[in-house]
Amino acid sequence: MDFGLSTEQKMLKKSVNDFMKKECTVEFLRKQDEEEAYPYKLYKKMAKLGWFGLAYPEEYGGSGLSSTDFILMAEEMARFSFEITAGFGLTVFCGLIVLKHGTQEQKDYYIPGVINGKQRLSIAISEPDAGSDAAALSTTAVLDGDSWVINGQKTFQTAADIDNTTMCVFVRTDEELPKHKGISLILVPNDIKGVTITRIKTLARKMIHTCEVFLDNVRVPKTNLVGKLNNGMKILISGLELERLFACSSYNGSAQAAMDLALDYAKKRQQFGKPIASFQAIAHMLADMQTEIDAARLLTQRAIWMHDQGIPCMKEVSMAKLFGSETYVKVANQGMQIMGGYGYTMEYEMQRHFRDSRVLTVSAGSSQMQRTGIAKALGVKA
Ligand SMILES: Cc1cc2nc3c(=O)[nH]c(=O)nc-3n(C[C@H](O)[C@H](O)[C@H](O)COP(=O)(O)OP(=O)(O)OC[C@H]3O[C@@H](n4cnc5c(N)ncnc54)[C@H](O)[C@@H]3O)c2cc1C
Repeated sequence: MDFGLSTEQKMLKKSVNDFMKKECTVEFLRKQDEEEAYPYKLYKKMAKLGWFGLAYPEEYGGSGLSSTDFILMAEEMARFSFEITAGFGLTVFCGLIVLKHGTQEQKDYYIPGVINGKQRLSIAISEPDAGSDAAALSTTAVLDGDSWVINGQKTFQTAADIDNTTMCVFVRTDEELPKHKGISLILVPNDIKGVTITRIKTLARKMIHTCEVFLDNVRVPKTNLVGKLNNGMKILISGLELERLFACSSYNGSAQAAMDLALDYAKKRQQFGKPIASFQAIAHMLADMQTEIDAARLLTQRAIWMHDQGIPCMKEVSMAKLFGSETYVKVANQGMQIMGGYGYTMEYEMQRHFRDSRVLTVSAGSSQMQRTGIAKALGVKA
């Protein structure tokens, strides 16, 4: 296992850093956050640079970048904003599902649009009564002639209300089969008849939005089914390692940014005639924070390496997800402590890290569910 970066990886990292430093400034993030405005222009610029196509094959206009390189990119991007990185990853990873499981027609329609930044995709699994128990979903799709007729409600849908978004909706297509087996994936544009979307007010994610989606006799063509009928859960799981690793890498980048902020502040802030970093209580907090970030990064690197070698690594990915998300929450919390009252104000970015991080031990599989999965892999039924 090599911990160094190749020349190409260093160049990619630098180009991400250069772009984000110029385009994704603190002032920009504050304005978008305050106005709760989706960063259309920023993503358009990323698309122009070819970033949405990095993970896609050249035949569709992508760059055919390795998954490792793509995941490394997330860490650099998330140093500037977790939320921006999450919104970017959402479309890219939903597109990869279409690429892997879609029909030729679906790929030809969606993938060029994802790469040029005009087509957005979101993922619709969670429902009011199906959160951690995702397979309990009850939104139904019934075939009627050449159309699927969809009825139900999806909750906590990231970016579902954004222009030109098609939702990857997981629906029940067979009530008779066991709950994990009767689910299918259907593509539903967010602006068609029968779809109603409302915003959910949340602590963070003001730019990319979190929504409630109501589906009332929504009709889409039969050809919008992705992959085989009743194969939805397998499709979902097939891309999970990579998608989670992208998230883990983002946690590490954002945690490092919060750490850097706390360290810089602690070195400059004087109390009792000394920088507060020189008080052992603060110095030890900083030491623990950086140690945990490095440990989270190493867990992520191990899982990326295993994934690249084709070694099944869901347990290792879960460990990286569990530890990485909890580390970002902890670092943001301790960072706020180190910055005293100033950390609590909107003048400093620690509040953004505090808000951005908090949901990450809940979304994309909560810490409890990760621990249950890890225990199961250890042969313990929790
Ligand atoms: C900001 C945000 C964005 C999201 N984006 C999306 C999205 O784009 N698409 C999408 O489909 N979903 C999305 N989600 C939903 C997210 O995946 C769910 O919130 C998550 O799966 C948890 O479900 P829940 O909130 O219903 O909590 P619940 O499942 O009700 O869990 C509540 C608590 O109980 C614990 N718990 C539940 N079951 C167990 C168990 N068996 N053992 C131990 N503890 C357990 C949980 O860990 C948690 O602490 C998003 C959520 C948020 C908050």
